[in-house]
Amino acid sequence: MAEQLNAFEMAQEQFDHVAKLLKLDSTVSEMLRWPMREYSFRIPVRMDDGSTRVFQGFRVQHNDARGPNKGGIRFHPAETLDTVRALATWMTWKCAVADIPLGGGKGGIIVDPATLSVHEKERLCRGWVDVMWKNIGPRNDVPAPDVGTTPQMMGWMMDEYSKLVGQYTPGVFTGKPLGGGGSEGRTEATGYGVIYTVREAMKHLKMDPKNSVAAIEGFGNVAQYAAIGFIEMLGGKVACVSCWDRNDKKSYTYSHKDGIDPHFLLTIVDEYGTIDKKKAQDKGYVVEDGGAWITKDVDVLIPAAIEGHVNADTVKTISKRVKLVAEGANGPVTPEADEYLKANKIFEIPDFLCNAGGVTTSYFESVQNDMNFYWTKQEVLEKLDTKMTQAFNAVLHMSEKEKVYMRDAAYMVAIDRVVKAMQLRGWA
Ligand code: GLU
Repeated sequence: MAEQLNAFEMAQEQFDHVAKLLKLDSTVSEMLRWPMREYSFRIPVRMDDGSTRVFQGFRVQHNDARGPNKGGIRFHPAETLDTVRALATWMTWKCAVADIPLGGGKGGIIVDPATLSVHEKERLCRGWVDVMWKNIGPRNDVPAPDVGTTPQMMGWMMDEYSKLVGQYTPGVFTGKPLGGGGSEGRTEATGYGVIYTVREAMKHLKMDPKNSVAAIEGFGNVAQYAAIGFIEMLGGKVACVSCWDRNDKKSYTYSHKDGIDPHFLLTIVDEYGTIDKKKAQDKGYVVEDGGAWITKDVDVLIPAAIEGHVNADTVKTISKRVKLVAEGANGPVTPEADEYLKANKIFEIPDFLCNAGGVTTSYFESVQNDMNFYWTKQEVLEKLDTKMTQAFNAVLHMSEKEKVYMRDAAYMVAIDRVVKAMQLRGWA
């Protein structure tokens, strides 16, 4: 396998490339290619058997020129400071491209949440807040769910913060459960947002969604609602999903000759995204190696798992039929794979545009928390569609005007907005 950049090197390389195109001032570049603040800390947690285990936690605040830092917290066994830095950086660009008044942040804990009991998870969540509470808040840094974290966890974290500051503060975390300060539509938001951008891209490419087939990598929150949206909103077919099996410690692709039924798969997937193979096979699903999703004869690829899976090696196995890659995950396509997609004229919806629906709805959630007045699901999803469509079209316009690839265009739109805010605040 070819040597691969780590996620932060990749984020810096993407930024440097566009900074050069934009002839960005070197001081501004220096500010933007590194996070403004980073926290790396230890969290002691009392386990159910009475022992104490120490976990490594992170929070990176990349840039808050446009508003409070915003971004999820990942619970992942392979989490590193560099991954969190990359993800925090992409959040700055994501909020800017979606044109919501927020900056970029990301957090994490090195842990496989599937190995913890419910009570251990609750204590770990509260422990993260006990360390970080002075450095987060509705006006400076607002975390949310990401890979390995759930609305319930956000509920515990919000509760811990509220206790520590002595007042109910729902706006400190988003992605909270409904009835616990959460917003209608937040669960569907990232996956549906992916589909709103796919719809706009298909219009541009003159593709007929009803005659289109997609292959999706992942079956977590983003992939689940992207699959539902592709079928129900666009009328297309989803050939397969591919996801990690925590029992076998490997991933599998699940395909069906008539197209997969996400609602059925939702009944046989556990909370960590592992699908019950036997039950799938009984319903006629073919179970193959995890890498098979990318080789399928489809029109659209939606990588919606984690970073780096569309790389120099796997990209060459893409079918000639593929016209569109919609990046539901953060950082799924490496710079080498980008070059291949460009050379083969495959249209790409870059990650921080494509998956901005989650954070956009998080923003709506915090607005509703501030007002203490809540919108209906239809109101939320309509507002989300408007934002995503505007963001897609602003990037497409930039790409056509500057004759650059969509990722570079998205960076241009985002960097321009962040630099402007920095200048207005006297930082640049
Ligand atoms: N974790 C999500 C993302 O990567 C959502 C972040 C948020 O809602 O703040 O965009």
